[in-house]
Amino acid sequence: MRTQKLLLGFLASVMLAAPRVFAKPLQVVTTTSDLAAIVADIGGSDVRVEPLIPGNQNAHFFDGASTHIKTLASADLFIQTGVGLESGWAPSLIQRSRNKSIQPGTKGFLDASGVITPVDTPTDSTQPSGDIHPNGNPHYLTDPGNGKLVADLIAKKLTELAPLNAGFFEKNRKSFQSRLDMRIQEWTHKMAPLKGTAFVSYHKNWTYFAKRFELGSMGEIEPKPGIPPSAADVQALTSRMKSNGVKILLIDPWSDKTTAESIAKATRAKIIPMAVGPGAAPKTTDYLSTIDYNVNALLKTLK
Ligand SMILES: [Zn+2]
Repeated sequence: MRTQKLLLGFLASVMLAAPRVFAKPLQVVTTTSDLAAIVADIGGSDVRVEPLIPGNQNAHFFDGASTHIKTLASADLFIQTGVGLESGWAPSLIQRSRNKSIQPGTKGFLDASGVITPVDTPTDSTQPSGDIHPNGNPHYLTDPGNGKLVADLIAKKLTELAPLNAGFFEKNRKSFQSRLDMRIQEWTHKMAPLKGTAFVSYHKNWTYFAKRFELGSMGEIEPKPGIPPSAADVQALTSRMKSNGVKILLIDPWSDKTTAESIAKATRAKIIPMAVGPGAAPKTTDYLSTIDYNVNALLKTLK
């Protein structure tokens, strides 16, 4: 009886679905959860996608366990954020996977930063400072406008690797981008009262988000990306926040809470846990819900 029911359900779903060409799902591995979420939206049931790093972990630092090498070994496509985010660990992981299809330079290797314009890039006069953003700021997917560009790139790549499913990917890309367009309008409208509002973040990962919604950054707790603050750095930041009346302090799940809390206490700023990618905060299950979470987290400061 149960089998019959399942079979009927299956047949009904096949009959209701638009005619499609079925092929083996593409195995996609991304470094970060935001990229995986966009792949899932565009690829739907025609891809199996897995991020190497959960959203609640710092993508700058990652040790490649052997399970990850196994995951990479069977991948058809590897996607990284680029702009140096994964440069400390991804190249050796890919090499150790011995998967010829995803090596840099092959069509199974994709660097998503190719379609965006990085900010905070070093100029000729900038000396190397030993920070973890040596090529510019890699946290570009915090701006939903960049999410749209990356969706184009991913749709193109999936189509190249699985041309029989081109129509399905195209339909999903259009749907994703039109939903994103609608939400961008809504978020921009909601965030308008916060225009020009200054904030401080633990790490420099909200630059693109701030630019999109015209917030005013007053710097970071880390004196340089990835460099822990000294007592003097904390002191200087605290007095800067006090004299400028900065009341918003954005942190990540992996930020040092003791330092953040002592600064918040001294400045009466509100600590806001943000989600740099899906999985970094409750209910951030996909790309849109992650941006929505961050917008709503900021809006709470208005109350
Ligand atoms: Zn960073």
